This record gives sequence, C-alpha cells and structure tokens, in this order.
Amino acid sequence: MRRQIRFYNTLHRKQEVFQSLEPDHVRMYTCGPTVYNVVHIGNLRTFLFEDVLRRTLAELGYRVTQVMNLTDIDDKTIKGAAAEGLSLREFTDRYIGTFFADIDTLRVQRAEHYPRATDYIPEMVALVQRLTANGHTYLLDGSTYFRISTFPHYGRLSGVLLDEVKPGARVDADEYEKEDVRDFVLWKAPKEGEPVWETELGPGRPGWHLECSAMGTALLGESFDIHTGAVDNIFPHHENEIAQSEGATGKPFVHTWLHAEHLVVEGEKMAKSKGNFFTLRDLLERGHDPVAIRYLLISVPYRQKLNFTFDGLAGAESVIKRIDNTLRRLAHSPASVGDGALPASAVDAFEGELLDGLADDLNTARALAAFHVLLTKVNQALDGSGISQVVRDRLQEAFALVRRTLDILPAEKHATDDVSEIEALIAARTAARQERDWARADAIRKELAERGIVLEDTSHGTVWHRE
Ligand code: AMP
Ligand code: ZN
Repeated sequence: MRRQIRFYNTLHRKQEVFQSLEPDHVRMYTCGPTVYNVVHIGNLRTFLFEDVLRRTLAELGYRVTQVMNLTDIDDKTIKGAAAEGLSLREFTDRYIGTFFADIDTLRVQRAEHYPRATDYIPEMVALVQRLTANGHTYLLDGSTYFRISTFPHYGRLSGVLLDEVKPGARVDADEYEKEDVRDFVLWKAPKEGEPVWETELGPGRPGWHLECSAMGTALLGESFDIHTGAVDNIFPHHENEIAQSEGATGKPFVHTWLHAEHLVVEGEKMAKSKGNFFTLRDLLERGHDPVAIRYLLISVPYRQKLNFTFDGLAGAESVIKRIDNTLRRLAHSPASVGDGALPASAVDAFEGELLDGLADDLNTARALAAFHVLLTKVNQALDGSGISQVVRDRLQEAFALVRRTLDILPAEKHATDDVSEIEALIAARTAARQERDWARADAIRKELAERGIVLEDTSHGTVWHRE
C-alpha cells in the first residue's frame, strides 16, 4: 500500500488526502518564470518547492507528468525586448538559458514539458472561441474580454467577492490587485510596438492568464491533479485560469491547488520591481555553496514565509559542512567487528520519518530534522563501538533516499572539499600574485581547477564557485 500524502488545498482551505485522477499517475502544472530577467531566489524557492513536490510524488510511486510554462509574452517581456531593441525571441531566449542554468545548479529535476507561450497561440485562440460559444466573452475595441458575471464560481479560489464588482468594468493589465477584480482581457488588440498575431479573433496578442489555461489543457488534459505557484498567483492569475478553463470545458479544471508562501527580505516580498532581490548568481559570486542555498530554500516548509538573511545562509553552510564531515568520517572508518553501536532499526526509523514528513504536506523541516537525528546517531556510534557493514549498507540506501527526495547531500566528487582549505589556497594565490610570483599563482589556480573549483578575479577580490 502506498503511503498517503496530505496536501493543503487552497481551493478548499484545508488539508486533504491526495488522490490522483488516474491511478499511479500525477499530472501537474507549475507556473514558470516570466523570462524577462534572471530569476531571483524568491522565484527559485517556489521552483524548489515544486521540485520537492515532484520528487516526493515519484518516491511514493507515482509517475509524474509536470508542465512548467515559460511566459515569453506578456507586458514585461514586451517592454524588456523593446528597451534593448531585440526581437521577443532573442530577448526571451537569453533568460530561458539563464533559468535552466540556475535550476540545474540547484539540482531542480527537469519537468517533462517546458512550453513557451508563443508556441501555443492556436490553442489559445481555440480556447477563446470555446468561451465565446459558451457566452463568456465580449469584444470591445478589438480586444476580447472574459465577462466574470457569467461565471458564478468566480472567486472560489481567492475569496474575492463578485458582489463588489461593477458590471462591465474591465482591466487590461496582466497583473492587478484584488481591489481591481473586473472583467479581464483574453486577447488584446494590437498596440504600437507590440507583437501581433493575425488570428480568427482578429489581430493581437494573448493576455497572460489565457496562456496557462491553454498550455495546461493542451499538455495535461481538461482536468488534472495539481496546479502550483506562489501565493501571489492566487489572484488574479489562478482565479482567471479556472474561469477560462472551466468556462470553456464545463469540467473541473484542477483538483488540488498548492501555493508557496513568499521568500521575504526584512518582511517584504522579494521582487524585481522592489529592487530588493538577489539572484543565484549574486550568491555564487560571493562564494556561497549551491547545495547550502538549496538547503536553505527548502528548509522552511513551503506554506511559511522564508526570511532570507546571510546569517541564515551561513547557518545552512555549516549544516552542509556537518553533513559532509559525518559522511567523510563514516567513509574513513572501518566497519565494526561485532554489531556496532547503530542498529539497522535506527535507519528504518529515519526513512519512515523522512517519508512521513514529506507526506505531511511536504513538511521539509520534519524530514530534515529526522536526517539530523540520524547523523547524530551515526556520530555517536562512531565515537563508540562503531557501525557494522550491514548497517553501513543500509545507511547508503538511506542516503540514496535523501538524494532522491531532498537532495541536499554534498556532491560526491566534492565530498572531500574543504571550504576553509580552498579559501586558504585562494589567499595564498593572492599573496603570490602580489609578489608577482605568477608561476606559483598559476599552479594554485590549476590545482583548484582540477578539483572543480573555478576562480574569477573581480574588482572586489577573487571569488570562486564549483564547476
Ligand atoms: P514570475 O517570473 O514573476 O512569473 O514568477 C515565477 C514564480 O515565482 C511564480 O510562481 C511566482 O509566484 C513566484 N514568486 C515570485 N516572487 C516570489 C517570492 N518573493 N517568493 C517566492 N515565490 C515568488
Ligand atoms: Zn500561470
């Protein structure tokens, strides 16, 4: 029997036991990046929550089909491309590239599909036509709008109230606030300087919300299991997705809605528009370890705000070091002759607790706590009568489980890297350069390169990262 998994479903505002619509198969849609800039670590927190979700479902025996869209046309991408004098493709290709590089660095497993909105224009047009046939739209000045008064369920996800809406009032922007709940645009009439598609709806371009409904339905079907995003997506984006999809198909769009809380800096949402953001590159340039960044970003359960601080990151780095040290100690100690001091049951208990934690609405804090308990026991056993070969083999299986789910173990090839040793070598190289001892400086660079450590000399000193 598969372990039950419980999720907090935003749609019903409570925890529920998850049941997939198809046996053993989960279809999920995750709102992806708007590719107008390098993603920030707030975005990455949400993508990491989705990664842990996907890995948990797979571990519990489901086949997962995940779609993550790439929003390559909306108000922001159009503006960005115009500002640089690039075509929308050239401009968004660049940020699609940086997005994949960043998620790879953080060990985010790839989704099955990464559709680009501009590749799904015919599907979007067809969806609007279905909505029109069902009486949900109207045309005004060349744009097509969704008339929300025709959809009685509007507001169910976000709790906005339809009574307060002035009939016929409209909003054209992709992003707007709850105070602005109104008829929203599906297809926008051409505007000076904006890309235009000639379609049966007339010339124009899609609104942001329409994109996700069309791509989700095209790749996952008219009804599917899970839809995720961060809490800022609930209104208007996901509310509008439901209206568009259900208004067209008459079927329930998504069974379970999961929303991650924000990553905040000093209490404020990290956002590009506020300028209070860090990218992954910012952190790597300062020499921070990607595994520690992953650890930090998943360590707080997704429904709680995560307050990003450099102290917190330093804390995660020392945790990774502790894990590394324990693994190294284990590897370099001989198996005990007798039973040793760590029973196999301790490893079983750990595995059970890790999976129970994840099945408890992805309680990563609980899963990580279980891992730390195990590491403490390993260290205590190594201080005592040691660990038998049988239990060592069980531990390797348990570590493999950690790699498949949380994936916060130091990379195997770097397991013997020591951050302070690397930094000492970098300091020695800096000293050699100051003394113009280029041969020695080069030799140190080469030695580090052989260990996968790349150096970059910047105006504020030498920074390093792993290949
Ligand atoms: P965007 O590129 O703005 O469409 O955002 C991509 C994903 O990151 C969406 O699911 C957003 O809801 C999410 N997101 C944006 N800002 C934050 C933040 N500060 N913390 C967590 N997730 C965020
Ligand atoms: Zn979306």
